[in-house]
Amino acid sequence: MNMKILLVSFISGMILFDQSGKPARKMAITFDDLPYVSAGRPVYLPGAQRATKAILHALRTHGAPAVGFVNESKLQARGEEKSRIALLRQWVDAGMILGNHTYSHSDFNTVTIEQFQEEIVKGGIITRRLMESNQPYQLYFRHPMTHTGDTQMKKEAIEHFLAARGYKVTPHTIENSDFIFNAGYVRARMKRDEATASKLRESYLDFTIAATEFAERVSPQIFGHEIPQTLMLHANDLNADCLNELLDRLERRGYRFVTLDEAMANPAYQTKDSTVSRTGPTWLWRWMKSMGLNISFRDDPEPPQWVLDLFNQR
Ligand SMILES: [Zn+2]
Repeated sequence: MNMKILLVSFISGMILFDQSGKPARKMAITFDDLPYVSAGRPVYLPGAQRATKAILHALRTHGAPAVGFVNESKLQARGEEKSRIALLRQWVDAGMILGNHTYSHSDFNTVTIEQFQEEIVKGGIITRRLMESNQPYQLYFRHPMTHTGDTQMKKEAIEHFLAARGYKVTPHTIENSDFIFNAGYVRARMKRDEATASKLRESYLDFTIAATEFAERVSPQIFGHEIPQTLMLHANDLNADCLNELLDRLERRGYRFVTLDEAMANPAYQTKDSTVSRTGPTWLWRWMKSMGLNISFRDDPEPPQWVLDLFNQR
């Protein structure tokens, strides 16, 4: 470690680099609801094409691997099937992994075990075909709204079903409410209200860093040290326009972007999640509860009120 690195570490009050000079913190990036969250846009494809290009460009610029979770029902649009599948092919060509997020973004709280199993089977057909050239790779599943089962029986039944088919359940440790910011953002862009759009981008970036700081503070309380974080994002306009800056800011906090495989190889991720809930809390909370701890999550930040108000005006 040279003096400059030591100085940077000292000034910022945190350890930015490990002994080999690599950034010390690790983060895996994940995107949900591929190919694209239109959030009320009247036409899908132009927005989807723009967002896909921008998101993949930002990931490539930062050398960041990612897993994108697909809802294959979104590919079924008359006359657009090929163009929508082509969006997913861009992810594969960029070296990303496609995961299963159920066929139609099914809420496990409101369907039976059998219905949810059908959603899983139907939700991985095209993505697996697209990923054929990238074999072998880990199959990942993420529950929509991270509703992992509102009864013990449902939760365990789906865990067994997924494991038997080679799927790993994907946790997240940082959730930044991007869908809340994105609702107002899409409307502001449609109205060409750049002042509001710009304010939302800034607020979103600040909020994501605040959510990251919370995960950095709470993970050592659970595991004794910071763990690799897993950030959950959505394939939407807001991330298309903010991801490059967001990854810059995370790099300045000492993060290096790693594969989900690498993040999940950390022993913390082997902790059994035994929580049963109707809500979709972060895995930091699930692991904390599963370990019989009682750490306060009161400081986990909420988006600003004005952003929530914009979201509720939908
Ligand atoms: Zn989702």
